[in-house]
Amino acid sequence: MTEKIISDPKLLRRCSRCVMPETQESIVFDEAGVCSTCRNLEIKEKLNWINKGREFVDLLENYRGKYFYDCIIPFSGGEDSTFTVLALVKKFGLRPLVVSYDHHMYRPTVLRNAERTIKRLGVDFFKFSTNWQLVKKLMRVSLERKGDIYWYQHSGIFAFPMHVAVKFNVPLVIWGEPSSEYTSYYGYDETEEVDERRFNMFVNLGITAEDMIGFLNDNMITMNDLQFHAFPSRDKLKAINCRSICLGSYESWDVKKQVEIIKSELDWECDFVEGVPPEYNYEKIEDMMQGVQDYLKFIKRGYGRMSHLASIDIRNGRLKREEALNLLEKWEGLRPASLDVFLYWLNISEKEFNDIASRHAVKPWKHDFNKTKRGEELPDQKFWSRD
Ligand SMILES: [Zn+2]
Repeated sequence: MTEKIISDPKLLRRCSRCVMPETQESIVFDEAGVCSTCRNLEIKEKLNWINKGREFVDLLENYRGKYFYDCIIPFSGGEDSTFTVLALVKKFGLRPLVVSYDHHMYRPTVLRNAERTIKRLGVDFFKFSTNWQLVKKLMRVSLERKGDIYWYQHSGIFAFPMHVAVKFNVPLVIWGEPSSEYTSYYGYDETEEVDERRFNMFVNLGITAEDMIGFLNDNMITMNDLQFHAFPSRDKLKAINCRSICLGSYESWDVKKQVEIIKSELDWECDFVEGVPPEYNYEKIEDMMQGVQDYLKFIKRGYGRMSHLASIDIRNGRLKREEALNLLEKWEGLRPASLDVFLYWLNISEKEFNDIASRHAVKPWKHDFNKTKRGEELPDQKFWSRD
């Protein structure tokens, strides 16, 4: 029997309610053809958010004024973390330490957003970056092993704030959006603790920092260089009684409404993003290589960010499934202009990139490079550092 191969995204099996395809990680369809994330979001609507909000206020009282800071808020300047900082400072009156894992990929608009937010809200700010020369090596290994360039970002973004919690003895870490908003690793009815279990389940791509040292095969690179890409030990987190939670587990999450709030309260600026129409100019605006990551996802799985964003809008009753499918056809799978910058940084050819990415394709998908069209260059790309 020959195996089924699909190179046309229209032929992938998709959820009968949203547009997520069979190739998404962790997706399951029920008898009605509805995906696990859509079912999860039905639970969200039935939850008693008033009780959840009270639970959150009670929880905060265990920490308020008892430590050097009331909590740590991981922050990028994107919509999710900007809304979280605004809410925790203004609505809940917390005194946070805002912590940023600066991955070297922040675009000019998001840097302006971050600075404005930090200054206007009057909060302490702590920022860290991994050695850029090492980052380039980590992107190469991550691309080869997983068809995803961002092991260093996934691990650094989630591990670094936990190290800061341990070092400053601040036992409460508050993130924004819960993953149950867009995947089904966690149900909306369970509390999503942003802990080591979650880190190993889907954040670190199944590669620990120790594994990475082995893959790099370079005597000069040790765990000292990658310490902030490993989750702090259980003993250390237990010693401070650390909790790591999502605001979105206690307040119903609605990105579009939140964007309106941060625009009016903090003059937060939107920006263009590769592979999505301008009306989605609020999501994932922070990262220069977002287009490359989404393109890699398309090569591997036949879908990109448009499927994800359109699905959220369908579930919120803001978009019809038919319209979503039209958007997918127009926007998904474009070869991003930012790939030129990535290839330059890593000093590899496009053919090599395509070959590596193709090795990670998820059945039944097989990307057809002959049909790939080039996307438009972002207005700020010409200002990005080529170092
Ligand atoms: Zn669905």
